[in-house]
Amino acid sequence: MNKLKVAYGSGAICGGCCTAILDVHEKIFDVIDRFDFVYCQMLCDPKDFDHADVGFWEGTIRTKTHEEELKSLREKVDTLISFGTCACYGGLPGLSFYYTIEAMLRKIYIKTRGTVDGKIPDSKEVPELERGLLPADQLVEVDYYIPGCPPPPETIANFLLAVSEGKKPEVEHKTCCSECSRRMTTPAERVRRKVGAFDESFVVEDHQKCFLSQGILCTGSVTLNRCGAACQENGFPCMGCSGPSLEVLREYERDPMRMVVKRLALLSGEDPEKVVTEREFKKIEEQLYDLRHQFYAFVSTHPVMWRRRSSKITELLKFEGE
Ligand code: SF4
Ligand code: SF4
Ligand code: SF4
Repeated sequence: MNKLKVAYGSGAICGGCCTAILDVHEKIFDVIDRFDFVYCQMLCDPKDFDHADVGFWEGTIRTKTHEEELKSLREKVDTLISFGTCACYGGLPGLSFYYTIEAMLRKIYIKTRGTVDGKIPDSKEVPELERGLLPADQLVEVDYYIPGCPPPPETIANFLLAVSEGKKPEVEHKTCCSECSRRMTTPAERVRRKVGAFDESFVVEDHQKCFLSQGILCTGSVTLNRCGAACQENGFPCMGCSGPSLEVLREYERDPMRMVVKRLALLSGEDPEKVVTEREFKKIEEQLYDLRHQFYAFVSTHPVMWRRRSSKITELLKFEGE
């Protein structure tokens, strides 16, 4: 069998997506049998390549160097995959969209807890940061999207093996709720608190009950299922790392925050079928805080998300000088 050539380019990343390619367990042998990595800074040595059948792009675009690298990759590959949530929607680096570059650099290099006598790098060799962060499809044409932070091994392996056989890869269309075994019950408790992996006060009392029904935010109902509800099954609510559900992406008037708040409002009453009034909606909204992290942590910089009229993102951007 002729092996397909793979090239792998990177923008602003943490490295998790590339590592995930090596994490496909025993399927790594099939991958190695069918693919040759001709360019990948993390996996092999070549500094350039002429042509590849498949190109992966990981990360959001933050500098001119990223932009040049992405455009060059697009020119040299037949099929380009936007790989990981950073590449597809801006991902976590997109949270810096809410801050000025100066505020962000000050925070990272000077004000971080534990930093002593910090200094912002000023070498001319370090590419300058652009104010905006762009997902890959804002600069080049993308053939496939594989969101996930990082995409799960099974998704990667199934995708690569389908491509190697000339088949159209199958993609998951459902939300995380579809795989979650927790029961939604009414009436839901009032919104209790901000929760997250680093919130020390985070205690889940009922491990069978839906987080929303316990008054804890979970974005599983507006998030594409790439993980089999991995967090929920292990005691944590979904933070949306696989990017928006197809319903959110396709319907321009849908906004993740509005959808989750509406669901909470429905669950709060005795009748989950009733129409939620604006007053009920506002009552729940008033109990929330840190909306940027709760609802938009992974998608803030994609125009398809922040340009929609229903989105809160542009309103939240007003705090950018923080
Ligand atoms: S999508 Fe997640 S794992 Fe991949 S580069 Fe971005 S932050 Fe890292
Ligand atoms: S909202 Fe979260 S906890 Fe509730 S069913 Fe959906 S994924 Fe599970
Ligand atoms: S449950 Fe949500 S946050 Fe957790 S891995 Fe799945 S998509 Fe990501």
